[in-house]
Amino acid sequence: MYRSHNNGELRLDHVNQEVCLSGWVQKVRDKGFMIWVDLRDRYGITQLIFDGERSDVSLVENARTLGREFVIQVKGNVIEREAKNLQIPTGQIEILVTSMKILNSSKTPPFTIEDETDGGDELRMKYRYLDIRRNPVRENLVFRSKVTMAVRNYLSQEGFVDVETPYLIKSTPEGARDFVVPSRMNEGQFYALPQSPQTFKQLLMVGGLDKYFQIVKCFRDEDLRADRQPEFTQIDCEMAFVEQEDVLNAFEGLVRHLLQDIKGFKIEAFPRMTYEEAMRTYGNDKPDIRFDMKFGELNTLAQGKGFGVFDSQELVVGIAVPGCSEYSRKQIDQLIDFVKKPQIGANGLVWVKYNKDGSLKSSVDKFFGQEDLKSWALKVNANPGDLLLVMAGEAAKTRTQLSALRMEMAERLNLRNPAEFAPLWVVDFPLLEWDEETHRFHAMHHPFTSPKPEDMHLLDTEPGKVRANAYDMVLNGNEIGGGSIRIFDKATQSRMFDLLGFTKEEARNQFGFLMDAFEYGAPPHGGLAFGLDRLVAILGGQETIRDFIAFPKNNSGRDVMIDAPSPIDEEQLRELRLKLDL
Ligand code: ASP
Repeated sequence: MYRSHNNGELRLDHVNQEVCLSGWVQKVRDKGFMIWVDLRDRYGITQLIFDGERSDVSLVENARTLGREFVIQVKGNVIEREAKNLQIPTGQIEILVTSMKILNSSKTPPFTIEDETDGGDELRMKYRYLDIRRNPVRENLVFRSKVTMAVRNYLSQEGFVDVETPYLIKSTPEGARDFVVPSRMNEGQFYALPQSPQTFKQLLMVGGLDKYFQIVKCFRDEDLRADRQPEFTQIDCEMAFVEQEDVLNAFEGLVRHLLQDIKGFKIEAFPRMTYEEAMRTYGNDKPDIRFDMKFGELNTLAQGKGFGVFDSQELVVGIAVPGCSEYSRKQIDQLIDFVKKPQIGANGLVWVKYNKDGSLKSSVDKFFGQEDLKSWALKVNANPGDLLLVMAGEAAKTRTQLSALRMEMAERLNLRNPAEFAPLWVVDFPLLEWDEETHRFHAMHHPFTSPKPEDMHLLDTEPGKVRANAYDMVLNGNEIGGGSIRIFDKATQSRMFDLLGFTKEEARNQFGFLMDAFEYGAPPHGGLAFGLDRLVAILGGQETIRDFIAFPKNNSGRDVMIDAPSPIDEEQLRELRLKLDL
């Protein structure tokens, strides 16, 4: 037996007991005649004392050979500490060691195994197994396990069946590139790794399984943007005989349960907002509604008054930033610089200070009087003491720019409180999205999403205006899940492929199996998928998903610990009949 207790367990109650502990050496303090060692495992730290007077001298000699991260097993007696440490749960006792066995030695670790480590990112990833010994990383992984357990329990209780779907499949188009795997047995042919189990879960509905879920790895070969992983985990779900409302209610239930169970955060019904409204009021399809600063459109109030910068524009729009009317020239200049950054790309910013005494002062006083400015303030819901920030230009672009500014102001004012949770549904997404590069429509969600019946008549004439039965769940400004009600008849599905520019033959080749299935009594169905990594990070009050993944890839998609991807040897290449001499 390696241990009778773990290192976080012993208290004053255990004094006089003989115990056996195992773990890693966190710290050695050598006082000559006595040596103290902090012994660590997942559960905590217990202090060991090696004392030549109270036990064997050779023990002290032996303890002197210990280095950081050695793995040892000790036997000894629990005694009350003289100098108590009330910071840790085991701080009232220590173990007077009577025997010790070194189970394994350790090289000096390349960074300190402390909550605040001296190791940089790359080094920590290379020695991730050491990084995982650190409290914050381990706690994140334990937290993730807690969340996935809660998800499984909740969904099983609701009658969802956990089904595994294959990883070696044929490509599913979800907008990204596929990772492919060459098939040795089928020369010149490739599997694709799933971007999601989309078509399989739909086939499970055709199979009558009624309610499906899976916590599943998905693979997308995208150019890595910050905090994206080429492989990531979804909570993937599908239900039969449902309308949008049923799906929203079912999964609002899941997230409400998680917030309550994991965070003790109670939330009633989630607000619902159409895509159009989200874009108009927040300039964003994943608005952070923990704070206000809603957009106010000022066209009718601000145009035609001789201010050329506004007059010719499609949209003049502003926000009221709470309590910032006393911003200095320098602070305002910083905001102007912010919107002019190439990533934002605005030409400038008009400001209005709504002073505490009710008077207004602006950067455009030459063109607008107090009455004008007052009417703007009203429109953006400003209170005295607020700062109005106004932008103008082409509508879609200006909304995106003002949205970035709104988020920047929220950061500056600390309005993004990680302990607060503000979920909502964004519904009625457009079915299609025009791609300027390829001059084609793309499915905004994916090609299996059903158009809204009331918009069907626009499909041929104005496809860009057709709305879909598609929805996203948004939490604190992040899209944490998304899905749709699906097409379930062959004719509509085939029409959809036409619209997306597939030839009949391409559609048949890629999705024949799905359209065939639709001919054998496919039930109406719909579902969604949550991004588990991000959901866990947000529930954990953090933004980076990497910190919640045991073995993440770096920004170039590499695993620096195992050094992947890597070349394969000639023999493997030959077997796969792959030639690399390009
Ligand atoms: N397969 C979709 C996705 O990965 C989710 C869904 O429509 O259920 O985004």
